[in-house]
Amino acid sequence: MYDDDIASVMVTEDQVREKIAEIAAKVAEDYRDSCGTGGPQTDLVLIGVLKGAVMFMTDFARALPIPTQLEFMAVSSYGSSTSSSGVVRILKDLDRDIAGRHVLVVEDIIDSGLTLSWLMNNLDARRPASLEVVTLLRKPDAVKVEVPVRYVGFDIPNEFVVGYGLDYAERYRDLPYIGTLSPTVYA
Ligand code: 5GP
Ligand code: MG
Ligand code: MG
Repeated sequence: MYDDDIASVMVTEDQVREKIAEIAAKVAEDYRDSCGTGGPQTDLVLIGVLKGAVMFMTDFARALPIPTQLEFMAVSSYGSSTSSSGVVRILKDLDRDIAGRHVLVVEDIIDSGLTLSWLMNNLDARRPASLEVVTLLRKPDAVKVEVPVRYVGFDIPNEFVVGYGLDYAERYRDLPYIGTLSPTVYA
């Protein structure tokens, strides 16, 4: 599938699975005492950012040995399809209040970090008990923006990647691995 379009595999399906297990173990350890011990209101809330984080979110939630509740937000950042501007609009907001809740934002990739920075300010204003971020991928530019990211899967080179939720013009999200696109796709 898409064989001619993929120039190289950056993260294999196995590497994704192993990394998720590793992060899930860390997260479970960190939240064991604060989450899931006092009823449903104490469950960890995962907030997935649509659409890119969907694959990571569903695999991650299933790998986590503590109870979680799944929420989704959709935001659009004004800009081209391959870079963001930091001007963000909420397309779909959370279905419930997160005040007093332990919240973990689940991201596919942090590039400039502009989208995430905006989102963190927005979520923080809702007064959660705690607010952290887990991202599967992070690019070098992300370190320039002041968003503390607690859990990072892979630090990757500054290349445009697709697969495992990440798209180019809405394609390739369904690839089970992460790869770079062949130049012919952009042509
Ligand atoms: P940032 O605001 O951190 O620059 O970018 C955040 C969003 O840009 C990501 O959630 C993702 O949708 C998109 N993005 C950034 N880098 C890539 C990439 O290499 N591939 C794809 N498909 N999307 C990317
Ligand atoms: Mg994202
Ligand atoms: Mg996209």
